Amino acid sequence: MTISEAPTINHDSTADSNSSYTSFTTIATAPISLDIIIVGAGLGGLTAAIGLTLAGHNVTVLEQAAELGEVGAGIQIPPPSSKILKTIGCLDSVLSKAILPYDFKIFSWKSGNLISEQNLIPYVKDQYHGEYIHVHRADYHRVLVERCEELNVKVLLNSRVDHIDFDSNTVTTSTRISYTGDIIVGYDGIKSELRSFILGYPDLPYNTGDLAYRALIDVEEMKKYDELKFLYEKPNINFWWGPQSHIVVYLLQGGKTCNVVILSPDNLEPGVFVEHSSKEELTELFKDWDPRLIKLFELIHSTSKWKLQNSRELSTWTHKSSNCIILGDASHATLPYLASGASSALEDAAVLTGLLSHIESKDQIHPILELTESLRKWRSTQIVKGSTQCQNIYHLKDGQDQLIRDSKLADLPPKIGYPNRWADPSFQQFLWGYEAFDEAERGWKEFKKGNHSVKYHFDNLYEDSKL
Ligand SMILES: Cc1cc2nc3c(=O)[nH]c(=O)nc-3n(C[C@H](O)[C@H](O)[C@H](O)COP(=O)(O)OP(=O)(O)OC[C@H]3O[C@@H](n4cnc5c(N)ncnc54)[C@H](O)[C@@H]3O)c2cc1C
Repeated sequence: MTISEAPTINHDSTADSNSSYTSFTTIATAPISLDIIIVGAGLGGLTAAIGLTLAGHNVTVLEQAAELGEVGAGIQIPPPSSKILKTIGCLDSVLSKAILPYDFKIFSWKSGNLISEQNLIPYVKDQYHGEYIHVHRADYHRVLVERCEELNVKVLLNSRVDHIDFDSNTVTTSTRISYTGDIIVGYDGIKSELRSFILGYPDLPYNTGDLAYRALIDVEEMKKYDELKFLYEKPNINFWWGPQSHIVVYLLQGGKTCNVVILSPDNLEPGVFVEHSSKEELTELFKDWDPRLIKLFELIHSTSKWKLQNSRELSTWTHKSSNCIILGDASHATLPYLASGASSALEDAAVLTGLLSHIESKDQIHPILELTESLRKWRSTQIVKGSTQCQNIYHLKDGQDQLIRDSKLADLPPKIGYPNRWADPSFQQFLWGYEAFDEAERGWKEFKKGNHSVKYHFDNLYEDSKL
C-alpha cells in the first residue's frame, strides 16, 4: 500500500537506504472525541487505553484487581508489538529495562548438542525494522501504567465488571457502580465475562493438555558453574525440544536475571489453574534431559505451574447491535509457543486505535468495531492454530518423526514448512512482518469506499501440520 497517501498520520522514513520502509510516529487526533470504557488493565487493555487517548478519546479503564501488576516472569516482544510500543511512546522505557537476544538456539533434549540456530541480531531489525525484546512482565506492565499516568488515563481498581446493558452501552461493577461509554472494549483476558455476554452463552477456555512452570534465577548464582556460561555470557533464546515437553531459557533485566519456562503435560488436578511447585519436582521430571538443565533447576528458589488454556475461533467478537467488542486474550487466547499472545493483543489495540483516530461521526462506531474484528480475526486465529501446531512439532517423542524433524532442521537455509516455525521464511514473514497501524490505514481507506468488511489474509502461509 502507499501509506504516503494517508493524510492525517505522520510517517518518518527510518528505513535503511536500501529499503522503502516507513513507520508511523504519530497517532492522528480524531475529528470527534468518544467516551471509551476498557474492561481489564492487562498488557492489551493498557496499550489500547494509551493509543485511544493519543487519538483524542476519553478513556476509562476498569480493573478488577486491587492493585496493578503482572504475575509471571519473562515475556518476549516480537517486532509487530515493539513497533506499536514505539508509536505509543513506550519503546525506550521498555528497552531500558530489557535485553535483546542475539540468536535463537535449539538444543537436543538429551545430549544438549546444538541442533539448530537462527540469527536475531542484526537479522530481525534489518528485516522487520523492529526489535525482538526480552523483558520482565512486571517491568513491561509498569511502563504502560506510567504512560497511562502521564496521559491522565483513568484506571479504576477494585472495579470488577459483572453486568452489561447492551441497550445503553453501560457496564456495572460488583460494587454496583455503572459506567456508560460510546464504546465498551472487553480486554478481560482468557476467562472473559464480556465474551459470554456478547455471545449470549458461557464460553469457557479450552484445556490444551499442557502447563507451564515458570521460574527466575539470579545470574550471579549461575556464574558459579562454567557449564551454564553459554546461558549468561550472551543473551540468546535457548530451546530444548523433547518428548512431550520443551524448555525455554532466556535472560532478562539487562542480563541480571535468567527466565526459565518449562512446558510439559498438565498434571494439575481438574479445576486447579495454578499451584506452587518445586525444583525437586522439576529435577525428577527432567532427570534424563541435558544435565546442564538439572544444574540450572537446582538454582531455582521458587516456582509455580500454570494450566495452559486457549480459545477456539469465536463466531463474533462484536455485539450485534451495541458498541461492544472483545479483544486480546478475551477473543483469541493461545498457547504461548510462538510467543505472540500479548503481541496479538497489542496488534488489536493498534488497529482499533488507528481506525478510531479517523472516526467522523458516532454512526461509524459499530461498523468500525466490525471492521476491527474483520481485519484482526484471521491473523489471530492463525496464531492460535500455529501455536497448537508447535505443540506437535516441539514435543515429538524420539523416533521416526523426530528424526525427520531434526533432519529438516539441519537442511539449510530454511524452506517453507521448516519445523522451526520462527525460521520458516513464509511463516516468519506472517508472524513478524505485520504492521498493525498500516493495516488500520488500509482498513480506513476501504471503509471510506464503503467496504466495511476488509479482511487480512496472508498468502503462502504453510498450514499443513504434518511434518
Ligand atoms: C507461560 C506463558 C508465556 C507467555 N509468553 C508470551 C510471550 O513471550 N509473548 C507474548 O506476546 N505473549 C506471551 N504470552 C501470552 C500473554 O501473556 C497474553 O496473551 C497476554 O497477557 C494477554 O493480554 P490481555 O491484556 O488480553 O489479557 P490479560 O493480561 O489476561 O489481562 C486481563 C485483565 O483483565 C482483568 N479482568 C478480568 N476480568 C475482569 C472483569 N470482569 N472486570 C474487570 N477486570 C477484569 C484481569 O484482572 C486482567 O488484569 C504468554 C502466556 C503464558 C501463559
